Amino acid sequence: LRSKNMLKNHALAMSIADVGWRTFLGMLAYKAELYHRQFLTVDPKNTTQACHECGFVMGTAGTEKLTLADREWTCPKCHAHHDRDHNAAQNILTKGIIKLA
Ligand SMILES: [Zn+2]
Repeated sequence: LRSKNMLKNHALAMSIADVGWRTFLGMLAYKAELYHRQFLTVDPKNTTQACHECGFVMGTAGTEKLTLADREWTCPKCHAHHDRDHNAAQNILTKGIIKLA
């Protein structure tokens, strides 16, 4: 997630500004340590817009970018149907695994 982008969304800005991104990341790192899990950050670029099945990026090849209102979408290239957040989570996991390799 890009906190700068999220702060532009008034519905999300309040809760993010309240805690502070650094504090939030610190909490995650602490919890990960506590439960013996690995914590790392990844570049959020295209984690929402890319199809985790085939890698197609929305907003390219004449397609419209997904907006916050698009909760589900179908990839125009491979026709996989996605829940927006689940697809992003898959992309983030993949980036994390690549970073660890
Ligand atoms: Zn696809």
